[in-house]
Parts: sequence; structure tokens; C-alpha cells
Amino acid sequence: MAKAQKKIILTGDRPTGRLHVGHYVGSLKQRVALQNSGEFDEVYIMIADAQALTDNADNPEKIRQNIIEVALDYLAVGLDPARVNLFIQSQIPELCEMTCFYMNLVTVSRLQRNPTVKSEIQMRNFASSIPAGFLTYPVSQAADITAFKATTVPTGEDQEPMLEQTREIVRAFNSIYGDVLVEPAIYLSANKVCLRLPGIDGRAKMSKSLGNCIYLSEPSDDLKKKVMSMFTDKNHLRVEDPGEVEGNPVFIYLDAFARDEHFAEFLPEYTNLDEMKAHYTRGGLGDVKVKKFLNNVLQAELAPIRERRRAYSRDIPEVYRILQEGSMRAREKAAQTMAEMKRAMKINYFDDTALIAEQAKRFAG
Ligand code: ATP
Ligand code: MG
Repeated sequence: MAKAQKKIILTGDRPTGRLHVGHYVGSLKQRVALQNSGEFDEVYIMIADAQALTDNADNPEKIRQNIIEVALDYLAVGLDPARVNLFIQSQIPELCEMTCFYMNLVTVSRLQRNPTVKSEIQMRNFASSIPAGFLTYPVSQAADITAFKATTVPTGEDQEPMLEQTREIVRAFNSIYGDVLVEPAIYLSANKVCLRLPGIDGRAKMSKSLGNCIYLSEPSDDLKKKVMSMFTDKNHLRVEDPGEVEGNPVFIYLDAFARDEHFAEFLPEYTNLDEMKAHYTRGGLGDVKVKKFLNNVLQAELAPIRERRRAYSRDIPEVYRILQEGSMRAREKAAQTMAEMKRAMKINYFDDTALIAEQAKRFAG
């Protein structure tokens, strides 16, 4: 009987800055829930330093500094090192080896068509000087996912094109060399607004590279300042004017974060968000009041995260030990997959006694 397929999670983040609330609702929250569900056999969470270097090659110090920031954010949101392997991408050389072989299964034009990479190239003003490593990072991401035989990848929706490219590589590899690799599925938040949380400036995506973030580790005062400075409906000038909730960043954040309990605690004149939205839409509800409520909600959500971060940051050597141990375990798994791949590709020359005997016979004759 065939063995039941293991359920394995792989996902990660680029250490280009501290993690923000977009990461939280888009991916971190799901990871913690999946970790706690007990349904997964293995969980790997990667700090993607090698990927971050593809567009930060001249600034390795930035990456080095942010590794510990991301690790603290992971621990702060409740990822548990006893159940999850937290590791650093560059410490797993097998990932580079796999990337190198996968490059042969992908065309340059396919890479140029990847919509996420396309928009990231535009955002970074690379024009015609795109680093080859940046253009090909979806291939390295395919290595990250397949090295662990991940079945489930919890991410924001900007990662769907990467997952699609990974599945294509898996199918190409398996059809040429035999069934070794596993096709991964994306795991998205069920809450639509969490798939791509906008920035506080109203731009389409909160992103470290755009400087429009609320960080998970945001001090309470700064959090309040950022919320109070957020974009809302630009046509909602007077309190009595009718307002637009659709596409209004403050309401999008409330969609992502507010629960009925928050109303009971902070704004009992409404029982839920729908009531508040209805009031805003018909007019008579001011932006300041809405923002104050959002501030209370975010303060309540982020306080325990900030507290846990503070606790872990008192023992930084321990955090590095956690990453080192996670990296060791991740490397074992990646090495296993690499060995299977080499056998399938018939490039395991020295272990292949049949090959050696066959060649010996050929030359003896
Ligand atoms: P960078 O600007 O350096 O690319 P980033 O803020 O886009 O940084 P990543 O490290 O690229 O962050 O993304 C990590 C994970 O968080 C991915 O799974 C991505 O889909 C998710 N994510 C990032 N930004 C958002 C967002 N605004 N809303 C929802 N999910 C997000
Ligand atoms: Mg990104």
C-alpha cells in the first residue's frame, strides 16, 4: 500500500525589514493556526536571506541586521521553535544546487512573464539592469519549496505566480526523471482583505520596500500616530457627509482586524462593523472617531506580540541557537531530497555500482 503523503509546510520572509501587519494577516496568522492545528507532520519557516540579496547585493549589512528582527517577529507572533523549524536560507547549500538544476527546466521568457516579478522590477526601477538572480528568484523559490517536499505554502496572494511556476518545475522534473518532487498548494487567508493589505498611504500593498508599513513591533505611540495619519475617503470632508467604505484603507484594516468583541470593549454604540459602516456611508460619522477605534483594535492585537518580542529579545544568543538548530534540521531534509533527485537524474555516479560495473564491462570488451 502506498504511504499516505506527509503534510508539510514551507514558507518564509525576506529579511529586508521588520515584519508588518500585512505579513501578519496575510501569512503569519495562518502559520500559527496551522502549527497549532497539529495536522502537519513538518513545518519549515525560512528567513530568505539569499533571496533578499538578489536585490540587495550591495547592502549585505541590511540583510544581516534584519535576520534577527524577523526571527524575533516569528517568535513574537507565536511560532513555536519546539514545533517549527525556523531556519536561514543561505545555510542550506542544497537549495543552490537544486536551483541550478531547475534553471534548465524554465525558459527566460517564462520568467519574464511572471506578473509579481514584473511589478517588482518596475517598483525597483531596474530598467534594463535587472540582476539575473532577481529575474530567476522564482526558480530559487521553487527549490525552497520542493527541497522540503512542502504540500502547503501559507502566503499572501502575490505569491500565487511563484507557486504556479514551482508546480510547473515539479511537473517537468517528475516527467523527465521520475516522481521525486511534490506539487505544493498555496494556503490563503479566508478573509479577502488579508490577501494583500494596502499600505497606510493607501497604496495597493503594504511593503517593507515602500515604507508604508505598520510594524508588528511598532511602539504604542508610533502606532497611534500612523493610524491617525492614515488615508481615508478623500471626499469625506465634513462629519455629516456620506462616506465611502469601499477601498477606504481605514475600513479595509477594520475588515482585517476588528471583531465584535472589540466593539463591545471600545465602541459599544455599534455591535459590529456592518453597523459602523452603515453609519459612515449615510453620513454623520467622522474619520477621527473611526481611526481612534482602529487604533484601539490594533493596540489590543499588537500588545501581546510586542510583549513576547520583548521577552525573547532579552536572550538574543538563544534566538540564534534556535535558528542554528532549525537550520541543521532543515539541511538534513534538503540533503535527503537532493540525494533522491541526484539518483533520479542519474548523477549519483559514485554510489551507482551498476553504472560502474556496466562501464567496466564495456571497456573490458
Ligand atoms: P519586500 O518589499 O522586501 O518584498 P514584503 O513586505 O513584500 O517585502 P515579503 O518578505 O516579500 O514582504 O513577503 C513575505 C510574505 O508576506 C509573503 O507570503 C507575502 O505574500 C506576504 N505579504 C507581504 N506583504 C503583504 C501584504 N501587504 N498583505 C498580505 N500579505 C503580504
Ligand atoms: Mg515581497
